[in-house]
Amino acid sequence: MEKKRIMFSRKMLISEPYIYCPRCHQKTFGTFVSISSQQSYSKECTACGYSRNYPLPGIKKRIVYLDQFVIDNFVKALDPKHPKHVAALREPFWLEVFKKLDVLVRAQLIVCPDSFFHREESGPTGYFESMQRIYEHLSTGITFDHGSEVIRKQICEHFGNFLRSAPDVAPVTLPEKIAQGKLHEWNGRLQISINMKPRAEEVSEVMQGKARTYQNFLEIFERWKTETGKGFDDWYKEETDGFATGTMGVIQDFARRKAQAPEKFLRDGTVNLNDLLPPPSVWLIEAMQWTAQKEGITDPAEVFKKIGEYLFSDKIELVPGIRIGSLLYAALADQAAHGRTQPPSKGVIVDVDMISSFLPYCDAMFIDKENAALLDDGRVKKKLGVGTHIYSLRDREAFLSYLDGILTTADPKHFELVEQTYGPGWKDPYLTILSRSR
Ligand SMILES: [Zn+2]
Repeated sequence: MEKKRIMFSRKMLISEPYIYCPRCHQKTFGTFVSISSQQSYSKECTACGYSRNYPLPGIKKRIVYLDQFVIDNFVKALDPKHPKHVAALREPFWLEVFKKLDVLVRAQLIVCPDSFFHREESGPTGYFESMQRIYEHLSTGITFDHGSEVIRKQICEHFGNFLRSAPDVAPVTLPEKIAQGKLHEWNGRLQISINMKPRAEEVSEVMQGKARTYQNFLEIFERWKTETGKGFDDWYKEETDGFATGTMGVIQDFARRKAQAPEKFLRDGTVNLNDLLPPPSVWLIEAMQWTAQKEGITDPAEVFKKIGEYLFSDKIELVPGIRIGSLLYAALADQAAHGRTQPPSKGVIVDVDMISSFLPYCDAMFIDKENAALLDDGRVKKKLGVGTHIYSLRDREAFLSYLDGILTTADPKHFELVEQTYGPGWKDPYLTILSRSR
């Protein structure tokens, strides 16, 4: 391949809008294109080099989380080379949503954080790069923590309250706590992206793991069907209690596999890394030990006594991730016991995991119809304890109006600043995002 030499000058980073330069009075005073998020922007003259910095006011963005299938539909609608492109265009909804989201993101009014779920679920699609391009474009590089990390943070905070004799004080669900990157800052105009494509082995391992977990779920679903005498509250209790027993089970299983690893190596000549890498449950207990120590408990026996007391107490339902997950499974169990024969599709575990991890941190979420219906179940709603707007394909018009509302209720002065910082093109949706650079 022929090597090209690109002459790079500072002027290339100065862009529209151009106004009259305060020093040389030519219309060459443009905005400097920034890379990182910012609390001010600068203008620089391409003729005389004069520059000046302008402060930007604080902003608070709305947090809108998009399920994986939304990103997938955006890719199909935006990528002319995608085999399902033509079919996707027959459904104008997706392009319409993308346009609105894209403009709102550039108007600095919303952010659609990406997550480990997006990355992992994009692995097997066969068009990972396009998926990453879209979810990073809408997230502007803001990534939510891994689900297990979210739960760990919630538990450690609540465990701290428990140790300070305030077990009824729930952990605070501020999105800043689980977001990597500056959530409420003016974005840089250039975005840097690193290809995070998972390796083929990683993809197949994840898929095998998911198939196993789904198999276990199906067995549980069959059991639910037979337990016709139980009600919603029984399952809810079973699920919240199950968190502690499940955590202990995972730790015991890990200890056993680790202990057997040397013998397995002598026999098979290989060691499975999964037998040696501690699962999130191990990290959780370690983090709780730290929390207890920070609260002044130094005796190791006392630390474990407190951890046990906490995990097996009924206060655990104040942990949002545990409560929401338990509510969703309880609703499914109730359906199974009362006539539902078809189990939910294989995405169910990931969906419950994603919703229970992120729901309390979002202003709005677009998820699939089945999960939206579960969240709409009166018994679920009653205990949910979050104010997030839930949207799905059942209420597409409502979602579009929600997005319109964000744009129309914003302060006109805000848009003047957006134009100064990002140029007049901020309101043109970026529909060629996947047709260029190929
Ligand atoms: Zn000048």
